[in-house]
Amino acid sequence: VAPGEVLLDVRGVSKTFGGLIAVDGAGLTVRKGSVTALIGPNGSGKTTLFNLVTGGMAADAGEIWFDGERIDAMRPWRRGHLGLGRTYQVTRLFKEMTVQENVVAPLPDSRWRTMFAGAVSGHEAARARELLDIVGLGRFAGQRAGSLSYGQQKLVELAQVLMLRPKLILLDEPAGGVNPSLLGRLTEVIRELNRGGVTFLVVEHNIPLVLELCDPVVVFSRGRPIAEGPPATIREDPVVLDAYLGD
Ligand code: ADP
Repeated sequence: VAPGEVLLDVRGVSKTFGGLIAVDGAGLTVRKGSVTALIGPNGSGKTTLFNLVTGGMAADAGEIWFDGERIDAMRPWRRGHLGLGRTYQVTRLFKEMTVQENVVAPLPDSRWRTMFAGAVSGHEAARARELLDIVGLGRFAGQRAGSLSYGQQKLVELAQVLMLRPKLILLDEPAGGVNPSLLGRLTEVIRELNRGGVTFLVVEHNIPLVLELCDPVVVFSRGRPIAEGPPATIREDPVVLDAYLGD
């Protein structure tokens, strides 16, 4: 897919939980090279949409296309293999393992290999170090992951996702719980990765950060998009304000 073309295409996707419609025939496109935001009030279906895209749960209806392939029936690991990565609202690191071991951990079979000291190949270890340098945590490589601050752990997770060389990364509240002093670094890392060719779809509650970092911004309400546009337009859109105040 060339820059500017549609990399992720969500078409008429729905998901219900019992009688509750979490995602309601939603369509969403993410263009290659963009940092696209997905915002909206609590409960509007953003996280559910992430889960449908990455394969944590199956959609009841609709199609999801990624990089020219239909992915909605694929197993999550196959989607990852195609270049789809994600981070979670709450970090999922192995707290007793070192930072560097955590970065290598998502590679196939690595859970087993990391149990045997030294079994990670020099090449993988070097790449993990390189990625830790990119997120500014190279000097913590040998420390226990649990000893890092929450914001630093989120940056480790970003390095972990990068290990799989994703084309698109879904970030679920990257700034949530992150110390203000680390927010600037986080923003800069995302920008730098984006310049290097990584596309992002970001769910984030910190609206000033979204308006600074993302373009376009897609606004969800009640399980579907109600507005989409550049940050300057979204900021002024009465429909968007209404969606937030109404809930
Ligand atoms: P958001 O991420 O925008 O806050 P969610 O996707 O988390 O919204 O939730 C959308 C709606 O679906 C909410 O009403 C939520 O309670 C419901 N929901 C989400 N996940 C589940 C689940 N696994 N089981 C039942 N209801 C769920």
